[in-house]
Amino acid sequence: MPSTSNRILVIGSSNTDMIIKLDRLPRPGETLLGGQFATAAGGKGANQAVAAARAGGAVTFVAKVGNDSFGQQAITGLKRDRINVDHVFRDASHPSGVALIFVAKDGENSIAVASGTNSMLRPADLKQAGRAFRQATALLLQLETPIETVHAAAKLAAKARLLILLNPAPARRLPRSLLRLVSILTPNETEAEMLTGVKVKDDATAKEAAARLVAQGVRTVVMTLGARGALILSAAGAQFVAGFKVKAVDCTAAGDVFNGALAVALTEGQPLANAVRFANSAAAISVTRLGAQPSAPTRREIDRFLQGRDRAGVLR
Ligand code: ADP
Repeated sequence: MPSTSNRILVIGSSNTDMIIKLDRLPRPGETLLGGQFATAAGGKGANQAVAAARAGGAVTFVAKVGNDSFGQQAITGLKRDRINVDHVFRDASHPSGVALIFVAKDGENSIAVASGTNSMLRPADLKQAGRAFRQATALLLQLETPIETVHAAAKLAAKARLLILLNPAPARRLPRSLLRLVSILTPNETEAEMLTGVKVKDDATAKEAAARLVAQGVRTVVMTLGARGALILSAAGAQFVAGFKVKAVDCTAAGDVFNGALAVALTEGQPLANAVRFANSAAAISVTRLGAQPSAPTRREIDRFLQGRDRAGVLR
């Protein structure tokens, strides 16, 4: 059960994903019939909040949604996962964030995002969440809301001495003044390349990119490496934590599940390498299932998965 030490503040985006599965992607100007439609709750912020809550964290989510049915549905879904939504603000003058996703039979996709209210989450909104900052142990951030808001949140969290995790996704360059506030930066390989200019293609280049981030002021880098797991790098040295061998069917939101679970394990006081192993296992379970939020495992599922694996079950 969540205790007071694992209070996690997640600040970020909430979207409604509207997905049409088709034989192939439509061409410009073409109307393609025969698709199957589904909606799903999404947005990196909300995905990570849900992943953290299911993994056992006591989560407060700060976000902005519209005063429309998508916003209402998003809030209802978050509540179902026992997430505190006191600071999910409603904005009557903008629509909720929406992602329109085409998925072809061969797995190829094409996505358009209208950020809507996500781009209206302002530094001033954070003032209303002051108590949540004071009560939390860790802050988990991504980059689907304005960078000024991300930066302001990191400053408030640093003042309150929270552990600050930043998942730098979607990829973009970041100011050093922000990187210096971050306790743990969690790029994937593409994001690491965007932040450092180093193309990550093997262990050596992963280490080189991570070392550059540490040189820019980040305390610890946890770089996710897909099926291979993750690399931890800090001033103390580098360590690879192997991923789990599973039958992957959909890697959507693997990074989000990884981040949510990592935040939980760290607030529980697990040593970093163990916390990364815990996050690898949550993310490995998620890739065996379809969808973003629906694929995030519960704590019971993660514990069972870990009990069932010994070192022989890992890749290396
Ligand atoms: P993102 O989803 O952000 O692109 P990654 O592809 O690096 O990030 O995946 C995040 C984490 O998800 C990895 O560190 C790993 O723990 C897990 N993961 C991803 N793909 C697989 C896979 N095929 N098998 C097992 N675990 C995976």
